[in-house]
Amino acid sequence: MLELQLGKKLKEGAPGLRLLFLGAHCDDIEIGCGGTILRLIREYPISHVTWVVFCSNEIREREARDCAEQFLQGVTSREIIVRDFRDGYLSQQYTAVKDFFEQLRREGDPDVIFTHYQRDLHQDHRLLSELTWNTFRNHFILEYEIPKYDGDLGNPPCFVILDEKDVEGKVKKLMDCYTSQRSKHWFDEETFRSILRLRGMQSASRYAEAFYCRKLVI
Ligand SMILES: [Zn+2]
Repeated sequence: MLELQLGKKLKEGAPGLRLLFLGAHCDDIEIGCGGTILRLIREYPISHVTWVVFCSNEIREREARDCAEQFLQGVTSREIIVRDFRDGYLSQQYTAVKDFFEQLRREGDPDVIFTHYQRDLHQDHRLLSELTWNTFRNHFILEYEIPKYDGDLGNPPCFVILDEKDVEGKVKKLMDCYTSQRSKHWFDEETFRSILRLRGMQSASRYAEAFYCRKLVI
């Protein structure tokens, strides 16, 4: 499905794909779709990337910017936005967050948007998913998954097959850039690799990232 949509965009003569990545917290985008980013950059012309992290502090902002730069190597037109909304309290800052979404909409018309899963059990993730759909009304949206303690993994129907170097690149960049997260019990190579292997099995490949696609217009 992704191939179908992206192929269509490119056939229309666009100079390249315009991609929008939305993540509530530093490392969400990389965990949810880091391998897909690497594959897209390798295989498609990219005309612009907008990368938005909503909640951060000083230390995590530095890590997030560094990691985004690592993932976006080779993309010449890119904007990395790291906001300082309060972690865990996005819904209490609803008006400001929604205003910011409206600003993103005015400033860009992405071909593909990557956002959180609508049934993610983290409240910040859910809110961003909801506002993505409220704001972008005629766009191709893929929702990524984040493994977590709460146990909210489901059965996403869309898969992006990754090769070993995508997997290695994703995991290495995550581990190298987010040193402040290494003390968390779940933040390690095994977690990141295991979900890629399981989604690979489900897509008859070795490794994959999986996404929810709620609407597809052919
Ligand atoms: Zn998060």
